[in-house]
Amino acid sequence: MHSVMLPPSLRVIERGWLNCNQVVMLAAGDNVLVDSGYCTHRERTLELLASPAGLDGEPLERLINTHCHSDHMGGNAAVVSEYGSRITIPAGEVKNVAPWTPQSVWMEEFDQRADPFHFDDTIDAGQSFEGGGFRWQAYAAPGHDMDALMFFEPVNRILISGDALWENAMGFVWPEEGANPLIDAARETLATIERLEPSAVIPGHGAPFVDAAGAIARVRDRLDAFARDPAKNARHVMKSMFVFALLDKRSMPLADVPGYVARVPYYRRVSERFLGVPPEGLAEWLVGDLLRSGAISVTGGVLRPNAIA
Ligand SMILES: [Zn+2]
Repeated sequence: MHSVMLPPSLRVIERGWLNCNQVVMLAAGDNVLVDSGYCTHRERTLELLASPAGLDGEPLERLINTHCHSDHMGGNAAVVSEYGSRITIPAGEVKNVAPWTPQSVWMEEFDQRADPFHFDDTIDAGQSFEGGGFRWQAYAAPGHDMDALMFFEPVNRILISGDALWENAMGFVWPEEGANPLIDAARETLATIERLEPSAVIPGHGAPFVDAAGAIARVRDRLDAFARDPAKNARHVMKSMFVFALLDKRSMPLADVPGYVARVPYYRRVSERFLGVPPEGLAEWLVGDLLRSGAISVTGGVLRPNAIA
């Protein structure tokens, strides 16, 4: 285990699996934040941002998102109301957040939430921005989100990977029967990271790490397994979505799970398409599998997630 040495102008506020990490880049008069966390934890995010681990009371001029999923931009509105920061989003995400609808960030489909926000400008692959006294180059990072970007700083060789690469996994990739262009895109993103040879990776979730090659190899194995077995991928996505919802809600009565997976459109749709299981069977499988893997606990007939939010 190598510890990651980052320049003092970079601060990583490590969160959990409901909130993404916040990366603070300090330069007087031009402080930058990458990604804002989930909306229901907005107060905690603002508290951490203002703390010595973040801006330490300094202003925040700009907020940039790696991608516009609810755990990365859900806190954008709160950050702007506190700091008046300018918001920059990936150019490809504009269609997903403007106009803002109940289905923006998949909210209706997946039972997620985010506070509506207005962005000021966009950044696209091939463009760059100044942060913490360094120039960060934007690279396309499709796969988990086809419009996502990652940011690379070539002097220290630091990569902010968003959900394109974590130390032991990556953000889920939608299942498809047969050839899956989303998995192919994720593989291309890994190849891009391999070419960049980062000496440190700051992921969207989990601690920063130095062994990018090892992480890439682990994720390639997972993608290969998902490409061979789309139903396995579908089960993985459903489990990830459900744990995410539990982290948001904090708990759910066991008796409510069949009604929940019958009501939230995504579970029904994927279950019909990939698993052929009725809602009652789906709830039983979901809870059983998550209990076996240690992702959740049940006490007194109530489910709780074991991961940190
Ligand atoms: Zn994320």
